[in-house]
Amino acid sequence: MDNFINYFNEIPSAHRSILLFGGLTVFLLLENFFPVYNFKSNKTRHVAINIVFTLTTVLVNLLMAFLLIKTSFWAEANEFGILHWIQFPIVIQIIIGLFILDFISAWLAHYTEHHVKWLWQFHVVHHTDMEVDASTANRHHPGESVIRFLFTLLAVVVSGASFWLIMLYQALSVFFGQLTHSNIKISKSINGVLKWFFVTPQMHRVHHHYRQPYSDSNYGNIFSLWDRLFGTYKDVENSKLVFGLDTHFSKQESENVWELLKIPFKAYRPPKEYAEKEKL
Ligand SMILES: [Zn+2]
Repeated sequence: MDNFINYFNEIPSAHRSILLFGGLTVFLLLENFFPVYNFKSNKTRHVAINIVFTLTTVLVNLLMAFLLIKTSFWAEANEFGILHWIQFPIVIQIIIGLFILDFISAWLAHYTEHHVKWLWQFHVVHHTDMEVDASTANRHHPGESVIRFLFTLLAVVVSGASFWLIMLYQALSVFFGQLTHSNIKISKSINGVLKWFFVTPQMHRVHHHYRQPYSDSNYGNIFSLWDRLFGTYKDVENSKLVFGLDTHFSKQESENVWELLKIPFKAYRPPKEYAEKEKL
């Protein structure tokens, strides 16, 4: 266990990059062999745009990393946070820590972005992708990367998670983000078991449907528990889904990095009224 903790305490930047870009490469290759749907647009251009946003996300996280280190050291030094207040055996400590980090830094951040207009303006960029694949996972406006980082700091304060646990969570989060956005066919029976515990690609694709209330469902990142607990879980046959956003269906906008960067500073576009006949 000590080796495990030490590894994540001192995880080299190179290993984090390999996880991010190596993982992306593996998922994109698997998508080639076991796709759920065939790409209609130019895949290379699509991935290139999303890699630009992956790089801005990496940059924001690097620039703000000192805040994460300071916050986790502060919680440790002051014995602040749930994991300091209640002592558990180490394995339980890890599981509870991952649950709290996943709830606040991912589910709550994501839910809030969907319900606060000016935050939504930044998150829109993630939803403008009209074809969802592993590269969509990190398609975040740099402003959204800052918002998510602040939620991560909140999660660290509440949980009191040590630095190694935060690094372990982030490694899992990168893996799950790419997996749940990937265009990889997973059998019904495997999905049927996994969906009770984890967010699966089938589950997360529903979130990328172009209409509410489906786009306002399945906010989860790693654990499916939060959507089940808060009544935002939806199970929909994936073949009925249309990716994108009803308010942002312009290719000139969604396939142009500069136009995407400007979206949060343009007027808010209200979603169209949802009609009963559009129920999936
Ligand atoms: Zn979303």
